[in-house]
Amino acid sequence: MPDHARVLVVGAGPVGLTLANELVRHGISVRIVDKAAERTDKSKALVLWSRSLELFDDAGYAEPFLPAGFQCRGAQISNGKEVMARVSFDSVDSRYAYALMIPQSETERILEERLAAHGVRVERSVELTAFADKGTVVEATLRKADGATETLTADWLAGCDGAHSTVRHGLEFAFEGNTLESDWILGDGFISGLEPNDRLHIFWHRDGILAFFPIVGSRWRVVADFGVATGGGRRPDPSLDEVNEVMAHRGSPTLAMTDPVWLASFRINERKVRDYRKGRVFLAGDAAHIHSPAGGQGMNTGMHDAFNLAWKLALVIKGSAKPALLDSYSPERTAVGERVLRNAGRLTEVATLRNPVLQGIRNTVARFATSFPFVQHKMANALTEMDIGYPESPLTVRDGDAGPGPKAGERWPEKLPAGSGGMKFVAAGPADITAALAAKYPQLVVAANAPGTQGRAPASGLRLIRPDGYVGYAGSAQDPLHAEAYLSTLAG
Ligand SMILES: Cc1cc2nc3c(=O)[nH]c(=O)nc-3n(C[C@H](O)[C@H](O)[C@H](O)COP(=O)(O)OP(=O)(O)OC[C@H]3O[C@@H](n4cnc5c(N)ncnc54)[C@H](O)[C@@H]3O)c2cc1C
Repeated sequence: MPDHARVLVVGAGPVGLTLANELVRHGISVRIVDKAAERTDKSKALVLWSRSLELFDDAGYAEPFLPAGFQCRGAQISNGKEVMARVSFDSVDSRYAYALMIPQSETERILEERLAAHGVRVERSVELTAFADKGTVVEATLRKADGATETLTADWLAGCDGAHSTVRHGLEFAFEGNTLESDWILGDGFISGLEPNDRLHIFWHRDGILAFFPIVGSRWRVVADFGVATGGGRRPDPSLDEVNEVMAHRGSPTLAMTDPVWLASFRINERKVRDYRKGRVFLAGDAAHIHSPAGGQGMNTGMHDAFNLAWKLALVIKGSAKPALLDSYSPERTAVGERVLRNAGRLTEVATLRNPVLQGIRNTVARFATSFPFVQHKMANALTEMDIGYPESPLTVRDGDAGPGPKAGERWPEKLPAGSGGMKFVAAGPADITAALAAKYPQLVVAANAPGTQGRAPASGLRLIRPDGYVGYAGSAQDPLHAEAYLSTLAG
């Protein structure tokens, strides 16, 4: 192994693997290490939401996930007697208007195999034990399975090393937040008779929540809260009988699990760091934010961190953009992290209400609100992370009348033009202007209507779409100098 890498990725969970894949796609040399001897065999994060699939699609590798997963079309909430609310994913503003149910073990397998196909092997049983930011490089100490240590220098270090992150500790960043004082159990196994099987089934019972997530065929994940935790530690993992008891009591007496694959108990942590970066060191994924699994957004949000960081690091490493581009990573992603934490917290609070009066109000509001298609649409777009954007980012510039179409900071609604490869900004607007911008900044920009890009020029306005599919600049086509100024600020 080379003893110098452009980027050292610590942690080969879904986030580290996404980051490594993206960097390699951009032609950047990486090393990726994981202290575990093997990748997880657990189903953990079960959902790839629409926006994650779009990001993989723009990067050119959504395809392998699709046959390995199962399309879930919506969610329904019932009280055991009747369905009180339904949310359909059909109306989601995406070319992937569904949730792809796929065990995390499969997601990691696909990402690791893709990385291997590009010549990068995950170095397993290799633990980062210490690191020092030396200003121009980062020096990292790696401990191997046989106890030998290696000192590696890298230009940049990315801590994708999960909730107990060594990198976060090394940065002395506080993981602010708290642990919820309730016990939860999880069962992953086979259940028959739960129909329709392409929906999430949520039961709001007076004694607590019971939620079912389809995995594949008759395999389901069931999750239930057990109320206020007693004692200091996590409760022991549940038995199959306990899982079946709670399913019969809160759901239906006809429901029973067989052949459990995984039974576990857990507690919910809601924590986040303030900054995702210090000098040459970045944090992404659970290393930077953890929250309730309600909404199923932990892994997805972490993968989006990785997509956000990868193109910026790649452009800076190649000298195509100034290092200041990297300053936008933390503000953009901390804003998203805060939102995800807030929403997951609210969902958990609502689902675990114990007061019968409040439960009654909750049920009435849910029934009423979800009877409006626009409310359903908004909820579905939020769950699938389609409504995330960067309106307040230092990288977002709105300038004059850009005409109809996405505003600066919003997601570009189409697949990125093939010729851009998700590696450069795409200039969308009048052909002569976009061609001139691409000619002046070839390292940063490709014209949407250039041959081979298969893009569509919008009717009016001028937009610069970032490599991760968000509009960075939106302005009037009458004033291309402003778009040029935007690019000259970024260009290396
Ligand atoms: C029961 C459960 C259900 C969940 N459901 C969902 C869901 O439906 N949707 C969703 O989006 N998320 C869900 N999540 C959350 C999701 O699993 C995590 O958000 C996700 O695993 C985070 O990925 P990561 O790559 O950031 O970290 P991890 O998956 O934790 O990976 C970190 C890796 O870093 C390695 N590592 C740690 N320290 C070091 C070190 N010092 N040196 C080298 N390697 C190191 C570890 O071995 C590990 O492989 C769920 C989680 C659980 C537990």
